[in-house]
Amino acid sequence: MAPSLPTAHTPYQRFQKNLAEVMDYLELSAAERKLLDRPQLIHKKEISIVRDNGKKQTFPAFRIQFNNARGPYKGGIRFHPLADEDEVKALAALMAIKTAVVGIPMGGAKGGVQCNPKELSRKELEAVSRAYVRAFADHIGTDIDVPAPDVNTTPEIMAWMRDEFEKVKEPYAPGMITGKPLAYGGSLGRDTATARGGFFILNELVKMEKLHKKKLKVAVQGFGNAGATMARFLHEAGFTVVAVSDSKGGIYNPKGVDPVRVGKTKEETGSVFGKTSGGKVITNEELLELPCDILIPAALDNVINVGNAKNIKAKYILELANGPTTPEADAILEKKGIVVIPDVLANAGGVTVSYFEWSQGRSGEQWTADDVDERLHRIMHASYKAVRDEAKKGKISHRMAAFAVGVGRIVETMRVRGWVR
Ligand code: NAD
Repeated sequence: MAPSLPTAHTPYQRFQKNLAEVMDYLELSAAERKLLDRPQLIHKKEISIVRDNGKKQTFPAFRIQFNNARGPYKGGIRFHPLADEDEVKALAALMAIKTAVVGIPMGGAKGGVQCNPKELSRKELEAVSRAYVRAFADHIGTDIDVPAPDVNTTPEIMAWMRDEFEKVKEPYAPGMITGKPLAYGGSLGRDTATARGGFFILNELVKMEKLHKKKLKVAVQGFGNAGATMARFLHEAGFTVVAVSDSKGGIYNPKGVDPVRVGKTKEETGSVFGKTSGGKVITNEELLELPCDILIPAALDNVINVGNAKNIKAKYILELANGPTTPEADAILEKKGIVVIPDVLANAGGVTVSYFEWSQGRSGEQWTADDVDERLHRIMHASYKAVRDEAKKGKISHRMAAFAVGVGRIVETMRVRGWVR
């Protein structure tokens, strides 16, 4: 038995807490535990650029490769002042679980540059992106490790990165990175993939729990790529979106808000509240505790914690954000009978369509938007079923079940490859 871990303080400790529990559940051997408890490779470099003022500046940069038993490493690169080794390590580990939960033939990795992109000009941002690729060019590539966008990294940055890789390493490598612009090897459907995948999962949940979507009230925290797109899909499908928010706060209307109108308000004013949005102005903290059926955190990590878990009134939580619920909050929610559909399943539509982009890059094909949608639907449907069945079989939470499905698939592959005996 693994020793029980103290309260999890860092992102990696939080991951280890969940992993330890699931490794007990799966009765893994000591050798198997050892292979899963740490990343396979940690690459750390200092990358330098010349700022617009002519001065040299250096940033810590990471590429952490957690596990590649099931295929090439896969995971985004974030540019953030707080991106450090522990955070990148935790995100790399979650990517390995996520790719296994959705059954795509890839492993898990993550990258980061500790910088504040808001303080960099476009030219400096391009220099950081290209310097990152030069620093890690020997460790990434179509069949080795395939990066993607993450916090503060965009399709344009992916294009600079592919271009740099093709200059320094391989003359034509459309499969070395995903999340690229459509004109330079991107896939249709990638921009809406995370919300689309979460939407498919939610529809499965509604079906299995015999709920009526027209009667369901949903609150969505975060109005960016994941949250705003999800709010729109829900509204179009007949759910009542009662609240939305961004970093400045949110709006609440028990009769429903129109995400399309809110989107226009945000374009005009920079925030979700305004005359055309309607609704009562609320804080992000209030949004999480609203009377609603489904709560969708789609912004930051750790927003559902010991401080507010007991006040949450939603019956279901769908984690579009990565790591929005702390392990301590998870325990409280479970006691209250709240069903949490975890990030490694709920937001896996993004990496799934990234895998589609990688496949198209390798084969030279271009799939239609309908192709992408149908394939994504099939995968999300099967993944939800696998997790739900495991939760029922083991009488465990959906998070533990998703970890069990993911870790189980990784271990199975490690066994057949002879990595553990
Ligand atoms: P984004 O930058 O497009 O949007 C983030 C949103 O969160 C913005 O509306 C922002 O205003 C809001 N926000 C920031 N601080 C906030 C605060 N304190 N309270 C409430 N809202 C706040 O990012 P995104 O791509 O939508 O990602 C959101 C989450 O989803 C992240 O956790 C990300 O890791 C996760 N995710 C995204 C994808 C994807 O493909 N976009 C894939 C998997 C997971």
